Amino acid sequence: MSSKVLDQFLETNLEDLKEKGLFSTIDVLEGSNGPIITVNGMKMINLASNNYLGFATRPELIEADVEATKHYGAGAGAVRTINGTLDIHQKLEEKIAEFKGTEAAIAFQSGFNCNMGAISAVMKKGDAILSDALNHASIIDGCRLSGAKIIRVNHQDMEDLEAKAKAATESGEYNKVMYITDGVFSMDGDVAKIPEIVEICEKYNIITYVDDAHGTGVMGKGRGTVKHFGMQDHIDFQMGTLSKGIGVVGGYVAGTKQLITWLKSQARPFLFSTSLTPGASGACIKAIELIEEHPEYVETLWENANYFKSELKRIGYDIGQSETPITPVIVGDEKLAQEFSKKLLENGVYVKPIVFPTVPLGTGRVRNMPNAGHTKEMLDDAIKVYEKVGKELGIIK
Ligand code: PMP
Repeated sequence: MSSKVLDQFLETNLEDLKEKGLFSTIDVLEGSNGPIITVNGMKMINLASNNYLGFATRPELIEADVEATKHYGAGAGAVRTINGTLDIHQKLEEKIAEFKGTEAAIAFQSGFNCNMGAISAVMKKGDAILSDALNHASIIDGCRLSGAKIIRVNHQDMEDLEAKAKAATESGEYNKVMYITDGVFSMDGDVAKIPEIVEICEKYNIITYVDDAHGTGVMGKGRGTVKHFGMQDHIDFQMGTLSKGIGVVGGYVAGTKQLITWLKSQARPFLFSTSLTPGASGACIKAIELIEEHPEYVETLWENANYFKSELKRIGYDIGQSETPITPVIVGDEKLAQEFSKKLLENGVYVKPIVFPTVPLGTGRVRNMPNAGHTKEMLDDAIKVYEKVGKELGIIK
């Protein structure tokens, strides 16, 4: 039996969430998260997952996972700093560093706790963090945890960044200043202006941190947004996830040996939470090898995304300014976005509505994530549904 106070709190607040339309139900997939998924017995084209290269269900990764599990066991047995560092973790970190073009890397159990751990290990009370207004929730939470002063920078606004970088560094108020940005922004698919960021941050001696969750496996022939711009030697923290393009689970920071040594001794999720499973580590190594040896996975992702985007445009949709495979279909009104995704779902296309407060009011949308696992037929089928539903709802002519 739970306490009365808790019951009351939950009842009131759950009601409140539902009234505000902020309560999200959770769909259960019957089977894997591949290009076709089954939900409530209905097969649908899956355009909602972050599985950019289709690696979540790739046989080579599954095999590598099983092999590592058989060799090392189901779990790592301890946190990294006690005796939960297996040689497969070390191999994964060496692989990430080589892939990202840095001296060293550290692997975490997820991208979320990587941001929580890495930001707070370096930034402290008395420091300041300049943070793009559309940064991911895990960056926001990592910044809050650090105790540093958080200064929001208007989204991708280099003039605002320069002004705030100048003010923060010249005020003499802070011991050190960091700028954090997503490499690829997950809602609009726009890409951080890395060369301009580097120029400003080098001018004011500001630490740079790029969260490339949506760039890893996608940009720079899979090596990320920083590599795409050839800026590996100019970004201090190349952070990313192993859960999207890589297809498994985990997070990482790639950087100098000294930085990684510091993070391994200070980042709290590394110190106090059990390491990645051997199976996940083995599958991540295999994923990076596949990207290195087979450029066609990343190429197929971009071909599929470009094809899907041009088809959506051809039939009359507003797909925003995305520069990456992230493909929003913007309808504006929040209720219309909900109705739109519901109809798409009923017609066999699985996408999710994204509305305020996740995106600005009046820019309601459904977000599509075409990936390398989709066939042209699947994308064509999805386009047919988009055409039918869009006309029914009066979104397109
Ligand atoms: N950063 C960004 C920009 C993300 O989009 C995400 C994933 N939603 C994360 C961090 C967290 O990554 P993970 O799912 O691996 O915890």
